[in-house]
Amino acid sequence: MKPEDIVHAIASNGQAERFANITAEILRHELPRRLLVGYVDRLINQRLEKPHRFDGRRPARVTQDRAYIARAIVHSMDRAVGRGCVSKAITRGVLRGLVMNGFMRGERRATWERFRQEHDGYSPPSFLVIAPDKLCNLRCKGCYASSGADSEKLDWEVFDRIITEAQTLWGMGFFVLTGGEPLAYRSQGKDVLDAAAKHRDAFFLMYTNGTLIDERMAARLAEVGNLTPAISVEGFEERTDARRGKGVFRRILRAMANLREAGVPFGISLTATCENCEEILSDEFLDFFFGEQGAIYGWIFQYMPIGRGFTLDLLPTPEQRVWMWERTWQVVREKKYFLADFWNLGTCSDGCLSAGRQGGYLYFDWNGKVMPCVFVPYSPININDAYREGKTLNDILQEPFFKAIREWQHAYGYAATRPEEHRNWLMPCIIRDHHRDFRRILEMTEPDPEDEAALQALLDPAYRDGLIRYDEAVARALDPLWEREYLGREGRELALDS
Ligand code: SF4
Repeated sequence: MKPEDIVHAIASNGQAERFANITAEILRHELPRRLLVGYVDRLINQRLEKPHRFDGRRPARVTQDRAYIARAIVHSMDRAVGRGCVSKAITRGVLRGLVMNGFMRGERRATWERFRQEHDGYSPPSFLVIAPDKLCNLRCKGCYASSGADSEKLDWEVFDRIITEAQTLWGMGFFVLTGGEPLAYRSQGKDVLDAAAKHRDAFFLMYTNGTLIDERMAARLAEVGNLTPAISVEGFEERTDARRGKGVFRRILRAMANLREAGVPFGISLTATCENCEEILSDEFLDFFFGEQGAIYGWIFQYMPIGRGFTLDLLPTPEQRVWMWERTWQVVREKKYFLADFWNLGTCSDGCLSAGRQGGYLYFDWNGKVMPCVFVPYSPININDAYREGKTLNDILQEPFFKAIREWQHAYGYAATRPEEHRNWLMPCIIRDHHRDFRRILEMTEPDPEDEAALQALLDPAYRDGLIRYDEAVARALDPLWEREYLGREGRELALDS
């Protein structure tokens, strides 16, 4: 019997709460935690040593990448619990969620299976990203969401209905909140913590500037127990304040202290540009946030040329992308920090996650516009209109724009059954790394630009041509790497040289 079968049996007997309580207590002690981490390490090492035995469909290096990330997650959580940065109440809440939902059993599994049966074996997306408001208390330079003093927001009923429907139609248990500043959201007297409290069987990750996390807010987060904040930083104090505003870095450190005190696990969110990528991947920076400040995870978002003041000048160069790929994996392997760069770690997600792909997501903005992802500001449908017309999330998934992107993902290798059929997952992004293909889909399906900036980008031939040139240069740098490191072949350029 596998460990997850035992846990499932416990949950089936109505003992989930008791199991979570006892296990949370046990995990507070060093010795049992060491034994558990050692056990998981042994399972992961098997994948590192014999990747083919576990997955013959993907390149062996992809299976190893996933094992390294899994190991980093386990060690990051172990460090946080060991340092006392995760309260017993939150450990208990996470365990309860894991027992009830994490192994995809019970009601959630039944919902997921029903969807698959009704859709020819196609799985629903795994999570949603929702920006309930555009309002933000900061005015960061180059904000991808162009946020500020705007009052646009989702009505509470719509916000809540999207979450509820995703659970009842798709069996979904994970939601990401962004904005604007999610903690500034108010509708009918409710905020994002009310949403998390109402949906306790789900888990929420919230991208926040952190400046609204005072002691009271940290205590509320601890009480809710199913929402983790990922706080944005740009680098050390000088760089963070230069983009986000004077004094913001110190307010962020105060927020982290409040979260540690309350035992709320948190992470950091980093935008990598050609100007700051060396700093945010330096030992000094990572050790400060993961070591000293107690961040459990870090998400790196390579700069995307959309939103306020979009420019191609801040894109990481092709050479920097190669360096970032090497450096990120070095950090994950050697420091065992859970640090994920959504593009360089495309191997861990089977590439692009947008457009409601199986295992992927959709993005809803403050006006109800539904988009393939946070960084693709073109929308074929508004959820408010859809609900008024009696439609559901299932109808949204069928929009031709989303279907066309999913077909592209499929052709790119998402559904490939042999390692050599996969295309380069180190450049997985349809809007930035394959802009020519993206334009073709835009012309074919004609979604609406989300805002003025998205319209300008669409109409600007220099932007289009510049991105296509960037893609070609990135391919020259990353294709040989993919061929050599993942397919075990000499790269295209190497072959030409010989
Ligand atoms: S379109 Fe690009 S940014 Fe969006 S999910 Fe896909 S790879 Fe990520």
